[in-house]
Amino acid sequence: MNEQTKAIREQADRSPYREHAVPLYLTSSFVFDNAEQGRAIFAEEEEGNVYSRYSNPNTTEFINKICAMEGAEAGLAFSSGMAAVFASFAALLQSGDHIVSCRAIFGSTHQLFTKLLPRWGITTTYVDASKPDDWEKAIQPNTRMIFLETPSNPGLELVDLEWLGKFKEKYPNIILNVDNCFATPYLQKPIRYGFDLVSHSATKYMDGQGRVLGGVVVGKKELIDELMFFIRHTGPSMAPFNAWVISKSLETLGLRMDRHCSNALHVAQTLEQHAQVQEVRYPFLPSHPQYELAKKQMKAGGGIVTFVIKGGFERAKRFLDALKMIRITSNLGDSRTIATHPSSTTHSKLTDDERLQLGIQPGSIRISVGLEDVEDIVNDITQALASS
Ligand SMILES: *Cc1c(COP(=O)(O)O)cnc(C)c1O
Repeated sequence: MNEQTKAIREQADRSPYREHAVPLYLTSSFVFDNAEQGRAIFAEEEEGNVYSRYSNPNTTEFINKICAMEGAEAGLAFSSGMAAVFASFAALLQSGDHIVSCRAIFGSTHQLFTKLLPRWGITTTYVDASKPDDWEKAIQPNTRMIFLETPSNPGLELVDLEWLGKFKEKYPNIILNVDNCFATPYLQKPIRYGFDLVSHSATKYMDGQGRVLGGVVVGKKELIDELMFFIRHTGPSMAPFNAWVISKSLETLGLRMDRHCSNALHVAQTLEQHAQVQEVRYPFLPSHPQYELAKKQMKAGGGIVTFVIKGGFERAKRFLDALKMIRITSNLGDSRTIATHPSSTTHSKLTDDERLQLGIQPGSIRISVGLEDVEDIVNDITQALASS
């Protein structure tokens, strides 16, 4: 079966009520038919749900869909994207271990690397992702994990997945781990290139409507088993309600991504022609420095467009205030178009130099392009450019 078909047809076993759409299993624990079954399930001789911190029919259905889309052996669902990313470090690394990560990563992941993981003796070296020599130089004898995001937020820089998959073959003890949130499994499948783990914030395109938080990690079964131990005993499990919401959303992920991408490309092309715009970044614009790589590893360019408005910081703020339909918020991956000013919000804690390294200028604006009619999106942006 095609993976999109699987994302639509995969469903928890039908209950005695013969429902068509999946019910919501709001239950913390599950009943055993008899004492012997309880013993057998606890002894792992028989499969079955025990307690929703471990598993639940709604979360299992959600995980099965993501495994089918990513081509993964196994997976686990988490209460948020950050719970998933943190678990992929905490469950697999120990004191003295070292991580090599691309520099352009999600803000909270940066906080983990620089503030929390060092408390437990885990250190990180950042590399400039587009320079192969940098990866090589950063590897130490105690490096246990390589972590990256592609495309990055908000600079939309790419990392060559095929190159990194081959690079890793020289280091069998290193776990290759990617946050695939911006691309979604519909646009990009890192496991094809030999990645061991793929994590996601399901809060973004998977829910796609800005309602609930969620996270997921999929990959090699032996690694997921270790994550399972971690999640069972620390408890960052996805709530059944959130799994039920997001699993239903996955039925339309492909459809929605096609529209996010075609709308975003149109917005990027329009901005590129605009006299008030200094620079536009979008992976599927031929002017993107990694356009060829984008076309090789992504099915389309994604839903995020970043541009630099002429006039810097103050002009960027005036532009946001002049938008009429598009809302200012820091989320992304919503059916509704969103505008964000990274240097005064999501990346305000960084120094000017750190921001420039991530491709963030004072006038940078990130647009998470939604599913509205593209003319309405473009009209709002151009009227705000004209009146700011
Ligand atoms: C949003 C996001 C996260 C964190 O996800 P939450 O669900 O908000 O915890 C991690 N990585 C990337 C790339 C994100 O965009």
